[in-house]
Amino acid sequence: MDITIFDELKSTGNLPTPAGVGIKILQITESDDYEVAEMSRAIMADSSLTGRILQLANSTAFGSQQPATTVDESIMRLGSASVRNLSLAFSLVSERKPGTCKAFDYAGYWSASLARAVTAQVLSAKMGIGRPEEAYICGLLSNIGRLALASVFPELYAELIVESQRHPCTGINKFEQERFDIDHIQVAACMAADWKLPKPLGEAIQQSLENPEIAPNERAVTNLADVLRLANAIASALALDESATPDVWAYAGEQFRNARLMLGSEEFDFPDSCNEFITDWVSWGHDLQVATQPQRNIESLESLITSKTAEHDQRASEEPSDGNPAGLESTHEKRSTSTVYQALNHEAAPPTSILLVDDEPVSLKILQMQLHQKGYEVLTATSGKEALKIALELCPDIVIADWQMPEMNGMDLCRSLRRSNERRDVYFLLVTGSGGDDVIVEAFDAGVDDFVTKPFLPQVMGARIKGGERLVQLNRKVENDKRTMRRQVAELGVLTRKLRATSLTDALTDLPNRRYALKRLKSVWSALERVGHNLTLMMIDIDHFKSVNDDYGHDIGDLVLKETANVFKGCLRASDEICRIGGEEFLLICKDTSEEESLVVAERLRANVQAHTMPLEHFDRELTISLGIAEYDPGMTCFNELMKLADEALYSAKNNGRNRFVRYPEIKSTGKAA
Ligand code: GH3
Ligand code: MG
Ligand code: MG
Repeated sequence: MDITIFDELKSTGNLPTPAGVGIKILQITESDDYEVAEMSRAIMADSSLTGRILQLANSTAFGSQQPATTVDESIMRLGSASVRNLSLAFSLVSERKPGTCKAFDYAGYWSASLARAVTAQVLSAKMGIGRPEEAYICGLLSNIGRLALASVFPELYAELIVESQRHPCTGINKFEQERFDIDHIQVAACMAADWKLPKPLGEAIQQSLENPEIAPNERAVTNLADVLRLANAIASALALDESATPDVWAYAGEQFRNARLMLGSEEFDFPDSCNEFITDWVSWGHDLQVATQPQRNIESLESLITSKTAEHDQRASEEPSDGNPAGLESTHEKRSTSTVYQALNHEAAPPTSILLVDDEPVSLKILQMQLHQKGYEVLTATSGKEALKIALELCPDIVIADWQMPEMNGMDLCRSLRRSNERRDVYFLLVTGSGGDDVIVEAFDAGVDDFVTKPFLPQVMGARIKGGERLVQLNRKVENDKRTMRRQVAELGVLTRKLRATSLTDALTDLPNRRYALKRLKSVWSALERVGHNLTLMMIDIDHFKSVNDDYGHDIGDLVLKETANVFKGCLRASDEICRIGGEEFLLICKDTSEEESLVVAERLRANVQAHTMPLEHFDRELTISLGIAEYDPGMTCFNELMKLADEALYSAKNNGRNRFVRYPEIKSTGKAA
């Protein structure tokens, strides 16, 4: 998991974040000994969040106890950690914004995520694996890495989705890794850690993403990761749009069927459970305002799968396809390439949207019609309170509000908007009944941008709106420029890091190169001097490599080098670092390794290379290596000394017949025979 890359993504300020109450809960629970009462107060400040927590505490999954009626009772029932995480998850869903990545289907993303959450919850309860509310959180958040990448790199990610659709055999992770140096799985893991989700949950999410597919013969459901994989397979089919291509349907259908088989038919009534998933999903969707498929049930879904799969098979028999459809997890990114390109290339400026607020319906209607005719997008509200809600949710560009209204008048509305974080910049036009100077002064004090006095001519209102529009456009441009700048900074960060990585990586074998090895040794050495761990270096050289080139050609020589590097990678511990420091010379850096351990490692390398069959036609040579080992001694002053001793040991191994390792102090005694 690469924390630094994640930090870079985070610093763009574009990662999905929870809404206000979620942030508050994150702050309260920052330290381990937080006050549960404080968290419960924060939750209660948000009535819809309170409702959702109660709903989960009372869900069938928790048996037939008396219903919980307060947040405190819910906390007792679910545990404070779960309530914290649930609050976070819900506030994240409620904060969802219309995104700017053209190829990413945001509605589909949330719909599938919610379906996965409820399915995971019900499965967990029925199978007694994990805790249902934890399964819910994991299901809801497991794909967040994709949303995050689409949010931070909207343009690049759109291109990447198009590219991955062109090469359906290559998983999207590979493209992500190439472009961003991090993939959605790592991003999800970092975000889970960042929000302090319990480690096992983050790990379950990661495992389920690393191995999302369900094989037809899989039967064992052993842990939360399996529950998530099942939930993903089922939910992706449940939430799949009818208009998705037959390819996507066929794949989703296959995964759905495999999930059904994995759950077994005897003790688990699949059709019944499936309908339960759908009912729960639709009801949660209604509450969270996430789109669902209320008409769907197990019969209609299965018949859709059958017909779409038949269509897919029919097409496949007519024109053999060049690969499998991309993974099911990416079904919410399925759109035809041409549509995506159209969306990417034709960015029409959206019409200016205006919210009209007046408690007098006739004048509201007249102005609405006039503005609509001029091509504005018009929203209306008949009270200040309603207007506030609409303005916060739908973000109009301009608000035109009557001054005199009961309860919350136009000026109060303006003050509330100026105080809000989200809409404090909206252009506000107040319509006043009398144009007395004191009213005007009060209006500007309240934060209005301009005013019109009743009665007004339509042309005057039109002119005022035009003035407002100029400012709106200017603001939009500034916002756009800021976004572009943030994107460029993020992209530059990726580029710089890639360049840095390239300059430290050997292009042929993908191993760290000599420059890296020296840099690394320098830093390891200074730590050694400070804390006094031990360090072993192994100098490794392929035996008689020149003759490989001579007999098979340089190209085959290259492939042999690559393959040997892979053998090394395959038999080393995560803490060992192997670098290619010369043509056919490698250096292994082993920290905190005892003498016996290093000899075991050396022998393993030697034996594995000798036993390895090169996957190259006509290559019948047995390849061997020689190794020289030297250990750190506090008397040494520089890592070059240690390298030199390892080199001497290697030289001795060569002189004593090759295909063997020699440890420095044993140079004189001919070394260990292989
Ligand atoms: P020894 O057992 O004494 O190490 O014999 P050797 O033939 O391996 O050693 P020598 O140092 O004489 O030859 C090393 C050869 O490695 C010479 C060079 O052509 C080859 N070599 C170095 N870098 C590369 C490379 O990137 N690709 C290929 N194909 N060959 C390389
Ligand atoms: Mg050699
Ligand atoms: Mg050599």
